[in-house]
Amino acid sequence: MAKNFSELIKSEYTDCDLCGSTSHELIYSKVDHVTGLEFHVVKCECGMVFVNPMPFEECARLLYPSDYLNEKPYLGSLFKNMLRLLPRLPEGDRRLLDVGCGTGHFIRYAAKAGWDAEGVDFEDWGSTEGDTKIRLGNFPSMDIPEQYYSVITSWAVLEHVRRPSLFFEKIGKLLHKNGTFIFTVPNVEAPGMRLSCDEDVPRHLWLFTPSTVKAYLCKYGMELETIFHNGKIYRSYPFGLVRYGWHVSIKRADPICSVYQNKSVALLRNRSMTVHFGNWIQEVMSSLSLWDIAVDGVDLAVGIMLANVSKLIRNYGVITVVARKKS
Ligand SMILES: [Zn+2]
Repeated sequence: MAKNFSELIKSEYTDCDLCGSTSHELIYSKVDHVTGLEFHVVKCECGMVFVNPMPFEECARLLYPSDYLNEKPYLGSLFKNMLRLLPRLPEGDRRLLDVGCGTGHFIRYAAKAGWDAEGVDFEDWGSTEGDTKIRLGNFPSMDIPEQYYSVITSWAVLEHVRRPSLFFEKIGKLLHKNGTFIFTVPNVEAPGMRLSCDEDVPRHLWLFTPSTVKAYLCKYGMELETIFHNGKIYRSYPFGLVRYGWHVSIKRADPICSVYQNKSVALLRNRSMTVHFGNWIQEVMSSLSLWDIAVDGVDLAVGIMLANVSKLIRNYGVITVVARKKS
C-alpha cells in the first residue's frame, strides 16, 4: 500500500545550524520525487543554504527510497581516490572512523589497505550484518572513546544530518591531537549550484560553502588544511539553469523546481547514469517531447560546461575538505 507521506513526515521551522539566525530568504521550492511532498530551500545571511521547514529526525529514514545506496556503483577507483587522501601514518597509529559508513564498503576497503577501520551509521543499510566494526545509532550521543582516532572520514554525509554542528563537535572530540578529518559536502557557492534543481532535496538538508565549512571547523577545535575542487570523489552538475533563466528571470514566475528542472536528468533520480544509461535513454525518449529533450540537451551542455569551469576556478559543486584537529 502506498505510504501517506504527508501524514508520516512532520517538519518544523528551524534556525540556522551554523549562526543561529532565524531570518532566511527563500531560494526555491521543490517537489520531492520520493515522497511527493513540497520542500522549501532557504538561504541564511551566513551563507548556509538549507531545507526549511525541516523534517523531524524521526522521519529521516522515510525520506530515502529503499534502493538509495544499492543503486550507487561502488567502484574500486572511488575508494582508491578516497584512500589517497589519508595521511601516511605508522602501522600502530592507523585508527580510522568512517562517519555515515552506509553499507561499510569503504571501511572494508581501508582495512585491506592496513587501517584499523570502524564505521558508524544511524541505520543498517544492508551488508552490515555481523560486522562488529559498525556501530548503529545516533552518532552525536554514541559512547565512543574520545581523542582516539587518527583519521575520521565522512563521505557525503554532513549534508544529510539534522544538526551538522553536533557532528562537527563530536568529531572534534573523537580525533586525537593533530588528527585528520576528511569529508565531502555540497558547495552551494559553485557557479549555478544555488539555483540548480539538481540538489537531492530533502535528502540533502544542508548545503555548505568553503567559508561555512571553515567556520564550523574553527568552532569545534579544527582548522582547514586543504579544499579539493576536483570532483574525484563525487561529481556535481548545476542542471536546470536554462529553464530557470526562462521561467524565473524572464517570465518572473515563482522559483519552483518542478517547472524549471532538467526533465531528462530528473528521470535519473537517485540512479547512476553509468549503470542505467540504456534504460534512461529509453525512458527519456518515451516520456518527453522532442522540444523538452532539445531544451534538456542544451541544459546538459551548460551544466557540464559550468562544472568544468568550476574546477578551473577552484569553486566546484562538491568539495573534499581536509582538516586537522588543533593541538
Ligand atoms: Zn546562518
